[in-house]
Parts: sequence; structure tokens; C-alpha cells
Amino acid sequence: MPAPAYTGRFAPSPTGALHAGSVVAALASWLDARAHRGRWLVRIEDVDVRRCTPGAEAQILLQLQALGLVADEPPMRQTERTEAYDVALARLVQAGQAYPCGCSRRDVDAALAAAGVVHAREAERVYPGTCRMGLGGRAPRAVRLLTCGPDASAQVVRWHDRRLGPQQQDVAREVGDFVLRRADGPYAYQLAVVVDDAAQGVTHVVRGEDLADNTARQILLQRALGLAAPTYLHTPLVRGADGFKLSKQNGASAADTRDPVRTLELAAQVLGLEVQGAPRGSPQAFLDACVQAWRQAWCER
Ligand code: GLU
Repeated sequence: MPAPAYTGRFAPSPTGALHAGSVVAALASWLDARAHRGRWLVRIEDVDVRRCTPGAEAQILLQLQALGLVADEPPMRQTERTEAYDVALARLVQAGQAYPCGCSRRDVDAALAAAGVVHAREAERVYPGTCRMGLGGRAPRAVRLLTCGPDASAQVVRWHDRRLGPQQQDVAREVGDFVLRRADGPYAYQLAVVVDDAAQGVTHVVRGEDLADNTARQILLQRALGLAAPTYLHTPLVRGADGFKLSKQNGASAADTRDPVRTLELAAQVLGLEVQGAPRGSPQAFLDACVQAWRQAWCER
């Protein structure tokens, strides 16, 4: 059977119920798939089991169902995908594109300080490449992707976002060799998401703008693994009263699905969809109107 021309997905982490912000991402990815007459999948991103909360997956699936956002296949779970991540990581290590790292956080801080690099206390540290040439007698902890070329040249990744326009990131300079498997065991989101998107034949990624910053890293990984890159559209974020994006971490409340059309209407507003006067009798009728509006806004230009 030929691969579907369009496959989209919504990939929630089951760290809590969907909130107003994650409903926006779910709705947008569902709408884009329906507007393209494509396939829409749900993937449960439970790769970091310690962050998951019991019952969250079931709650998310019930919320999606109540909103009428129904997937075309049963959900895939990352906890069932370890073998595929093992294979991908082994390929990268064998090809010299990934390497074991023996540095603790303290070692990284010390190496950065020695190099005179000052960073904000909470800021991500750009890994200085200490273990690129070998572990220097240290025990292996994490595994990292080699982000610079063999001649240490930087790799500027350029990509296009359907909403945000042209984007670029010098991953080697701005992020450094990032972690693919963590010292404490689990695979990193970056590796899991790239392997899973490819395995599921995802052609279009539609997700929240807070994840846009990960895209260049994911494109580097796709290239290293010889995988096709999907197209990307990052959706506007919902901000709380404090101006920060809503997140489970800052206590955003679960999206209320007792009035599903009201919840969808709020999400459609964030997406700037013109659906005034849309039928409000059932989620399906409202969603049909949204598909039309989405097609005009995002598929016909
Ligand atoms: N699991 C991620 C999250 O819930 C989303 C990953 C993605 O869409 O690429 O933030």
C-alpha cells in the first residue's frame, strides 16, 4: 500500500490533562490533517516515565474524544518503542555521529568556567565538547549527538515554518552536542520524536510554538539518520494572566470538556479562525466549520 500523502499527529506527554494551550495544538494538528484529507494520529510521549502522572493518558484520550478529535489509529506509546530508539542510537554511534559522554553537570560547568563562558544561572549550558575525542578515563554517562562537522565547522540549520516563516539555528554554537540518551537511562525527547515521526510516516508536524526551538535539533537528527524531514507549523501559545505560556508545570487547569464547543471555540480564536456563526449544536458541526476556515487560512495560499 502506498504511504499516505499526509500524516499528522498530536503528541501529548501524559504529565497531566490537556489544558487550553494543548487543546490549541491538538485542534490545529487535527484541522490541518482533515483540511488535507490526511491521516491524524495520537502519540503518547511517555518516554520520560518519571514526569508522567497516573491516569493522565486516559484523561487526555477522553478529553480528545469529548472534543470530537478522534485519531485514525490507536495511539502509539513511546514506552513501547525502546528497541527502535536502541537501533537508531547504535547506528549514530557506529557512524561516529554520536558519542558517549562522561561529564556530570558539574564537569560541564567547570569546563565552561575554564573557557571563560558565562551563562545565566538557569540557562541551558552549551556543551563544550569535552568528550568528543574520548572519555578520558571517565565512565560513560549520557550519549550526545555530534553537532559540528568533522572539521568543527558549525552547522546552521535553515528551515521553514508555515506560520513563522524562515528560521535558522546554529545548533553547534547555540545548543552544542545535545543529549540523545540521558545519564539516568531514558532516551531524550529529541531522539524519540524523530524516530517516531519517521516510523509513523509523519509528513506534517503541527504543534505549539514553545517547541519551535527544538526543530533545528530534530532536523539535524533526521539528516544524521537519513530520514525525511516533515513540514512544520508552530501554533500560537496561550498565555496565563502572568504572561507566561500555560503549562502543566505552572498549574494550568484541565480543559473543560463539559461544554466541548465552547472549549473548541476558544482554541479556534487563538488560531485566528473566522468561525462566527458556526453551528454550535455539536462538536462535529463546529469542527466542520473550522476545517473550512483552516483550509482558507493555511492551505490555500
Ligand atoms: N510531547 C511534547 C509535548 O507534550 C510534544 C512533542 C511534539 O509535538 O513534537 O510538549
